[in-house]
Amino acid sequence: MSLAQVIAERIAQDGPITVADFMALCLQHPEYGYYITRDPLGADFITAPEISQMFGELIGLSLAQAWLDQGAPSRFTLAELGPGRGTLMADMLRAAERVPGFIEAADVVLLETSPALRQVQKARLAPVMPKWIDRADALPDQPLFVVANEFFDALPIRQFQRQGETLWSERRIGLQGDNLQIGLAGAAPVEALAHRLEDTREGDLVEICPSAPAVLAQVSARVAEFRGAALIIDYGDWRSLGDTLQALRRGKSVEVLSHLGKADLTAHVDFEALAAAASPNVHSKLTPQGVFLERLGITARAERLAKNLSGSALEAHIAAHRRLTSPLEMGNLFKVLGIVPRGALPLAGLEL
Ligand code: SAH
Repeated sequence: MSLAQVIAERIAQDGPITVADFMALCLQHPEYGYYITRDPLGADFITAPEISQMFGELIGLSLAQAWLDQGAPSRFTLAELGPGRGTLMADMLRAAERVPGFIEAADVVLLETSPALRQVQKARLAPVMPKWIDRADALPDQPLFVVANEFFDALPIRQFQRQGETLWSERRIGLQGDNLQIGLAGAAPVEALAHRLEDTREGDLVEICPSAPAVLAQVSARVAEFRGAALIIDYGDWRSLGDTLQALRRGKSVEVLSHLGKADLTAHVDFEALAAAASPNVHSKLTPQGVFLERLGITARAERLAKNLSGSALEAHIAAHRRLTSPLEMGNLFKVLGIVPRGALPLAGLEL
């Protein structure tokens, strides 16, 4: 069997599948799924924590400050959704060692589906004895300080094309002979897209991520009830428009319908949809990543680290700083959504 055969059989049985079903099979199939079979970081794409240690350090300090601001609860969950190689968590923990009592009070919990990446995380984070969970509803009922970087972009999306005044046709993936082909299902009203009739026209394409609201609801319910904070970082915008599904292999963009299970598939995150799914008892705030990191003092930290570097290492360090913050690189494309209980002090970096 191959993933191509699995998908072809599924289509033969059920008819054309949604983009979300296609993404779920490609990324999470128990035998052939992209994330299940490999550690893709570095090989196919690179993320902010892998670019520079400064990213995780500043996020760790922002969350540790929120923990202090909220009365330093003596037991809390320090969680990460989709921790990759564990680099972000390791950098957060190292920086937060400066905040007395924080690490001692933390139960580290990692939401991860990939057995390959769990092994990498286990080796990296052994000293803090993390606990792994499969679903957000398994997060413990206690104060929750949580980060998710490039997690939501890996969750399957559905795509709809506007038809006329009120209807939408869903993109589906079917078979033409032996080849996968994208087509459109019949037009129908879509409840979840009622608010998009105001800002779209005939032919426009919009996306929804069906599994994201439930994760947000689980996270924000704990933050609202037990206190805490969430930092969700990803590429995307407030209300996305157009086809943002992309496949990446070895750092290069490839055809979405080829390289099944061998390329990463991601889509832009619609932060409006995330914020809308949050508990009414939390406050949420969106800011570009570059602005967030500048407010947290990345430039001062970069200068401090630069003192011990020279030659190509110094050049790489300067390039990494620029890559994370410049509006021409990740600074604007990536956004940070911060969530705190209503009435709590804002997160450091998201004050304004
Ligand atoms: N946050 C890391 C890794 C980002 S890659 C970093 O910034 O470097 C996406 C991560 O989310 C991987 O760890 C992947 O295995 C995990 N992941 C993807 N889909 C998931 C899902 N549905 N449930 C849990 N984890 C998932």
